[in-house]
Amino acid sequence: MKKHIIFLLALVVFFNCKNESTNNTDLSSNNKSQKTTEKAEFAIIIHGGAGTILKKNMTPEREASFKAKLEEAIRVGHNILKNGGSSLDAVEKTINVMEDSPLFNAGKGAVFTHAETNELDASIMDGRTLNAGASAGTTTVRNPINLARAIMEKSNHVMLSGKGAETFAEEQGLTLVEPDYFFTESRFNGLKRVKEKQAKIEKNTDTESALINFYNEDIQNSKFGTVGCVALDKNGNIVAGTSTGGMTNKRYGRIGDAPIIGSGTYANNATCGVSSTGWGEYFIRAQVAHDISALIEYKGLSLQEAAKIVLDKVKALGGDGGIVALDKNGSMVAEFNTAGMYRAQMNDKGELNIGIYEKE
Ligand code: ASP
Repeated sequence: MKKHIIFLLALVVFFNCKNESTNNTDLSSNNKSQKTTEKAEFAIIIHGGAGTILKKNMTPEREASFKAKLEEAIRVGHNILKNGGSSLDAVEKTINVMEDSPLFNAGKGAVFTHAETNELDASIMDGRTLNAGASAGTTTVRNPINLARAIMEKSNHVMLSGKGAETFAEEQGLTLVEPDYFFTESRFNGLKRVKEKQAKIEKNTDTESALINFYNEDIQNSKFGTVGCVALDKNGNIVAGTSTGGMTNKRYGRIGDAPIIGSGTYANNATCGVSSTGWGEYFIRAQVAHDISALIEYKGLSLQEAAKIVLDKVKALGGDGGIVALDKNGSMVAEFNTAGMYRAQMNDKGELNIGIYEKE
């Protein structure tokens, strides 16, 4: 009898352990986070925007081209880090690949403003010095992330905007282009669609709430496409950067979260680096990137816990989007509350993980 009881107890313990390990596997197979128990030598994580990205709306060719570009971009940064280069170079050069691709809403392929222009925002932060640079509303700087870096390294300022930022870019010898360099037909058609829809609604309704619903729905349905990168180098330095065209049909010189240090971008060697994407107004109000770092610094939370809390806060306010981040140990997290987020991460063993939809 006693033997039977011991056997039964052993069985219960065995099944409990099995359940626990199954749960852990489920978490990592979601590809939203990669738990690293030991300190990684270096690591890199990127995003190409979050939004209503659904498999049913995607062709296999389009999906393949996004994945190929994400891979091309992350491998550039990974190589720099592997060869002992700085996280600053890794972030800048990785983002350049995505800025130069019309697939993403940054650099070439940026969305259009209401006035049919492209106004670009970017920022970068160095976690070693807490130095930062940002540019907003530029129309002639080919790679806004390079401008953000130049502002950080070569000016006494953190943020420059519009014409002044462009003059500084010229003085620094950065590549300037004609504003129509940023034109892509698909983004222009996107603007036309939004404007037509808006005109129809304005004609057929006079209620303010219907208009507000339209704006909300429209924003929810747009695929944002901002790009971002966070890297940890072999010297333990964390850098984060973000670059975007903002949101389709923006007007009145609207600036989103991407160039706001603490909202779109934040890095601190003592905690983590974060790059955000999503509905910028909410990311500014929730101070997303700095809040994640602060929860680690002041409350001792893990990066995963901190990211979840802050994105839940964004959701509670009514916004949506996501972040990619890594901490000082090289643990990487991609957290989002939209249907999808273009993302990729690579560790010091060269293992690459690419995802688009929620369950991957
Ligand atoms: N956060 C960006 C903005 O609000 C948009 C995006 O992430 O796609 O300007």
